[in-house]
Amino acid sequence: MHEPYTLRGVAVVAWPALAAALLLMVVPWWSAGQPATAVPAPWVLALLIVVGAAAGSYLPYGAGTLALGAVALPAALLSLGPVSAGLFGGAVFLLREGLRRLLLAGDLPRLERTTLVRLTAATGRVVLAGCAAGFVALASGLASGSAAWHLVAAGAFVVTLAALCASAAVWGPPPRRPIDVLGPRLSLDAAGWLLGAAAAAAAASVGWLVGMLPLVGVAVLAAELARNAHRRRLAVARIRDLHEVSLAVQRIGDGTGDLRAVAGQVFAECRRVLNFGWFQLEMREHDGGVRSWSAQGRGGLEEGKAEPEHAPPALPGIHRRTGWKVLKRELSDDQDDLLARLRLWCDPRRLEPTSVELLDALLPQIAISIRKALTEHEAKRDHLTGLPDRRVLEARLEEAYSACRHDGSAMAVVMCDIDRFKRINDRFGHFAGDGALLKIADVLESCRRDTDLCARYGGEEFSVVLQRGDGQTALSVAERIRQAVGSTVFLHEGKRIPLRISAGVAAYPELYVDSGKELLLLADEALYEAKRRGRDRCLLHLGRRRYQLPGGKVVGEDKAPPEPEVPTLFA
Ligand code: GH3
Ligand code: MG
Ligand code: MG
Repeated sequence: MHEPYTLRGVAVVAWPALAAALLLMVVPWWSAGQPATAVPAPWVLALLIVVGAAAGSYLPYGAGTLALGAVALPAALLSLGPVSAGLFGGAVFLLREGLRRLLLAGDLPRLERTTLVRLTAATGRVVLAGCAAGFVALASGLASGSAAWHLVAAGAFVVTLAALCASAAVWGPPPRRPIDVLGPRLSLDAAGWLLGAAAAAAAASVGWLVGMLPLVGVAVLAAELARNAHRRRLAVARIRDLHEVSLAVQRIGDGTGDLRAVAGQVFAECRRVLNFGWFQLEMREHDGGVRSWSAQGRGGLEEGKAEPEHAPPALPGIHRRTGWKVLKRELSDDQDDLLARLRLWCDPRRLEPTSVELLDALLPQIAISIRKALTEHEAKRDHLTGLPDRRVLEARLEEAYSACRHDGSAMAVVMCDIDRFKRINDRFGHFAGDGALLKIADVLESCRRDTDLCARYGGEEFSVVLQRGDGQTALSVAERIRQAVGSTVFLHEGKRIPLRISAGVAAYPELYVDSGKELLLLADEALYEAKRRGRDRCLLHLGRRRYQLPGGKVVGEDKAPPEPEVPTLFA
């Protein structure tokens, strides 16, 4: 398996070496101190750049740290003196860690990302160890240039680091393996700095350039080892991913045919595979209409018509909308007709090529599922108004009812019926009647929320299912619909035909029912009462033949329904 080299990757990871080189050149002037040993700055720079760039592409696996330690520390020791080198090491480490976390946030294991304590502890250990090495060296006269004292300083570094790691192992979370005490990257850091100290010692005795060269080799070798280990991990992950794909294919294959449900499944599958900040899915219905859903990476799916380009907020840490990488995918059927468009706004710092491959592997199955859902959706649509028909309504009612039973939320149903519709048909003809039905369907659609469902129940009756809405909310929705219908202008052959509706509302759990269908029957009862009381009004069913008008007034009898008369043999 080939690991891609990217310019960005190299640039991101080569910076520690470059930063070290710059600091090495700048610090001696800035501190106006005399370097302990004269270092050929161009050579340092050249070496650091070569090693940094070589190790750069592997850095996500810790090798850059190794290279940095191996190359920068000896240079720092020789040019700055031991104390400054210790402080310099700590500072570079802190800076590097900060930037790494910012730039490569997605690559870090979750534990490290979420546990700030671990970061602080790990960094602190290295800084302290570096300082200890510096102080020991100073106290023992390293500045005199003796190689043995370089080794003493390195020993101080090791001892301090070991002591700090041991204390972390005792007081920190229990390690699973002995190596975990150091942590995979911290051990590489330590190895790098140790190599660096050894290089400094070698450089002091055999000459700077000769002492450094073997270390460059060691650093590159170690980087290669880290890369191989990473490849193995990737291969294992890939097998796991293939398994995931086959599971996902089964899950998506079980689609119900409900467009909203399919959109929800696609969203869930994308979230399983990819890290994204914004999700948008558009489906093309058979009549050319477009349904679109969008969601934030962690939020719930919402049906909406918002222009997606403006929807995602600025990328955290980048503060520019243009910072997103937008993955655009078009899904077509066998005849190449466009079925759906999927867009995912991803954080480029977190986007992994394998995740994108996984997503692409799922797309054919997603396309099949969407095609199936669109066909079924078309079959379950009322042909005159285009609204979902009674079957969809009943299915949604039961779905909403079981959701309410499950999470204790509320739901409501509004049942609307056109007043004196027969007269419109009789006076102006069925064609005008059909036009009126279309007009009212439009009004209903414009009054509903995205989560609600409007359906044609049959004839001139329409229903609205309000998910997570109580009786009072539903009553005000019904009243809004009634007023909107009343004020709508419906023209037939230049003549305005007034339209009026009556509506009945019933809500659960305000009314205790055993099924969604039972709630619909109660809404129908309220509708019947609204008709009986003169039409052009809305009534909320309060139970026991009591009904509430939109203003809050309660009408009806407050008594139990009369017992049905049972015929008896002993009359
Ligand atoms: P009310 O105020 O009591 O509801 O009176 P109404 O006239 O609206 O009620 P009724 O149930 O008596 O009449 C309903 C009419 O709706 C009867 C039927 O011809 C008409 N209708 C049902 N479906 C359609 C349709 O698809 N197109 C047209 N044009 N008319 C329809
Ligand atoms: Mg009617
Ligand atoms: Mg009717």
